[in-house]
Amino acid sequence: MIWNREFETLSRKRLAQLQTKRLQSLVRKAYNGNPFYRGKMDAAGVKPTHIKDISDIVKLPFITKAEMRDVYPYGLLSCDVNNIAEIHTSSGTTGKPVVDAYTKKDLEIWSEVMARTLASGGTTAKDRVQNAYGYGLFTGGLGVHYGARKIGAMVIPISGGNTKRQLQIMHDFGTTVLACTPSYSLYIAEAGKEEKIDFSKLPLRSGFFGAEPWSENMRKEIEEKLHLKAFDIYGLTEIIGPGVAAECERQDLLHVYEDHFFPEIIDPGTGEALPDGEKGELVITTLSKEGTPVVRYRTRDITYLDHSKCGCGRTSVRMHRILGRTDDMLIIRGVNVFPSQIEEVLLRMEGVEPQYQLVVERRDNLDYLEVQVEVSDAIFSDEIKNLERREKQMEKELHEALLIHAKVKLVEPKAIARSEGKAKRIIDKRVL
Ligand code: ADP
Ligand code: ZN
Repeated sequence: MIWNREFETLSRKRLAQLQTKRLQSLVRKAYNGNPFYRGKMDAAGVKPTHIKDISDIVKLPFITKAEMRDVYPYGLLSCDVNNIAEIHTSSGTTGKPVVDAYTKKDLEIWSEVMARTLASGGTTAKDRVQNAYGYGLFTGGLGVHYGARKIGAMVIPISGGNTKRQLQIMHDFGTTVLACTPSYSLYIAEAGKEEKIDFSKLPLRSGFFGAEPWSENMRKEIEEKLHLKAFDIYGLTEIIGPGVAAECERQDLLHVYEDHFFPEIIDPGTGEALPDGEKGELVITTLSKEGTPVVRYRTRDITYLDHSKCGCGRTSVRMHRILGRTDDMLIIRGVNVFPSQIEEVLLRMEGVEPQYQLVVERRDNLDYLEVQVEVSDAIFSDEIKNLERREKQMEKELHEALLIHAKVKLVEPKAIARSEGKAKRIIDKRVL
């Protein structure tokens, strides 16, 4: 279902006009209202008057996560602090958090793009949305909450964790829509199986999963185990939280809400623009944000864009599901590989559970990758020689598909720690 037909099906020409107008106003506000942006633009020799068309966006300097952290907490504010209605931040586990400050209008836009997201997977006012994303400063919880409220659905604001309670509530209240990280949805499925819950008997019908990378095969697993249709949703704190892009009912590529967020793909090494279909780093500009506008943010997420028409009728550009993050990319003896690519290969094999961890070590200046992956009880209790045969087979397939040499270690069910939020896939023991 298309939530906002007017804006989601704008002709490309009208869309470009709207984007141009919004970019001009954004750049004017950032230049005149924010010393940090003014300094950056002056250094790059660009003035607001140089922006005559949306394509002029390439004249503007990029902004990185490190720069955002440097101006913590209020350095990106481009309006009076009294106009800020709500604050969110990134988790800040690797340094100072990044701040997203929303005016009332920004919150309305957030609700709007999240309503689009949930509606494109078929959510209506009749749905009961179990929101198991964390509430609080993390954007996942409240983002989904606002979108579901806008649609008029019933929200169950349970937040993440307490899996038994999730199952109880799901059963008792007749949840129809589940929202959480993809890894947590599998955790819920597993716990439900132990409690002998038959998901096919529950009214669950769709799920909105994001905040971490996942693969097509993982989608299949989730859909089979939970008996629902699983949609990929994408967003990040720096931009607005969830609600930047989402899959439509075709479950193919993710429509970017381009009237609010302008995407570009660049070569992460040179910063040069890349054409449709070529993988690179996603750069996003917030075209309409008032509180903390963001000009050409380097997301470090790897994907590609596709401007071809989608059968659903939306006219926006689409992006491929995130292939990885530049900072999650493992370089194993010169070969670049992302956890989601390994996941895709592992899950092709029967009896393999979507629970895995990648352990990287360096010995004598060489990188060693060990892939630890859970297998079903039946397989794990098989004879040692059969287990070894399977490990060798997986090593061969990983090498054929990704050209990496990895050691595969099959582990018993539940051996890998579960997460209630984002899964931790990489354990990097290298001391560089
Ligand atoms: P943090 O994890 O730093 O607190 P966020 O929660 O804002 O910050 O995380 C945003 C990041 O999460 C994105 O840049 C991207 O790497 C990842 N992400 C979000 N949604 C998806 C998705 N659907 N698929 C893959 N990765 C995603
Ligand atoms: Zn579509």
